[in-house]
Amino acid sequence: MSADQDTFDVVVVGAGLAGLTAALTAAEAGAHVALLEKGAEYGGSSSRSGGGMVFVCTDLQEKAGVEDSLDALRDDLMRASQGRAQPEIIDAYNNTGSHSGYNVVRHHLLELGETGGYFGRVVSGGTHQGSIRGILDGTIDTAGIDSTVLETEEAARPELRTALRTIAVIGPSPIPPVVVPRTLDPALRTRLRDLLLNMGADPAGRAVLAAGRMTRFVPVADADYDPIRAMARRAEATGFLTLR
Ligand SMILES: Cc1cc2nc3c(=O)[nH]c(=O)nc-3n(C[C@H](O)[C@H](O)[C@H](O)COP(=O)(O)OP(=O)(O)OC[C@H]3O[C@@H](n4cnc5c(N)ncnc54)[C@H](O)[C@@H]3O)c2cc1C
Repeated sequence: MSADQDTFDVVVVGAGLAGLTAALTAAEAGAHVALLEKGAEYGGSSSRSGGGMVFVCTDLQEKAGVEDSLDALRDDLMRASQGRAQPEIIDAYNNTGSHSGYNVVRHHLLELGETGGYFGRVVSGGTHQGSIRGILDGTIDTAGIDSTVLETEEAARPELRTALRTIAVIGPSPIPPVVVPRTLDPALRTRLRDLLLNMGADPAGRAVLAAGRMTRFVPVADADYDPIRAMARRAEATGFLTLR
C-alpha cells in the first residue's frame, strides 16, 4: 500500500446504511474515505430491513383525529418483538416524553442559557429507576429524577440517601395524574374517582395512602398541566429540541 492509500481523512467502520451514508457524505465533501466491513458482504441489517418507519403523535395524526401516545408506541414495539425487546432500549427511543426526566431539565438549561451543549454526553436511563442504577454503577454522572420517585426509592433503600447527591431542585411541577383508558365505562371511572378522592377521609384509605407517602388525592383539570406544556413549547420555540 502506498502512503496515500493508507492515510485517510475519514475511516468509517461498518458498511450498513449508517456507515455507507457517512462514507458517501464524507466522500462527496471531498474527504479521502476508508470504509471497513467485517462481514463477507456489506449491507448489514439494513439489507434485511422492511423499510417501515415509526412515528408517534404527529401533526398529521392529530389533524386526522387519530389518538396516539408514547405508551401505545411502547406497546406496539413490544408486541412486534413478541415481548423479546429490551425495555431499556425502547425507552431510549421513548423517554423524551418524560417531564421530570427530560422536559424540565431541558427547560432549566434554557433558563440558564445553556443550550449549546451543557452535558458531555446524553444517554437514556430508560426510567427513573434505570437512571438511579446508572448513577450507582458509574455509567452516568447525573440525571433528572422525579422527586416523588426519589423519595419512594430512598424510603425503600435508605442507603441511597448517601449514595446519591441532589445537586439542584427544579420545580415544583404538577404531579403525575392518575389516568384511566378513555374506553373505561364512565360509571366505573366516576366510582374510581370518588373512591380515590375520599380515601383520605377513611382510616383504611389513609393507611394505603401513607404507604404511598401521600396524604390525599385532589381533583385536577387538564389546565393544571399547562405549565408542563408551556415549558416544552418554550424550548421547542427556541429550537432547543434535544437535551445536550
Ligand atoms: C429483519 C429486519 C427487519 C427490519 N425492519 C426494519 C423496518 O422495517 N424499519 C426500520 O426502521 N428498521 C428496521 N430494522 C432495523 C434496521 O434495519 C436497522 O436499525 C438499521 O439497518 C441499522 O443500520 P446500521 O447502518 O446502523 O447498522 P447495519 O445495517 O447493521 O450495519 C452495521 C455494519 O457494521 C458491520 N460491523 C459491525 N462491527 C464491525 C466491526 N467491528 N468492523 C467492521 N464492520 C463491522 C456489520 O457487519 C454491518 O455490516 C430491521 C432489522 C432487521 C434485522
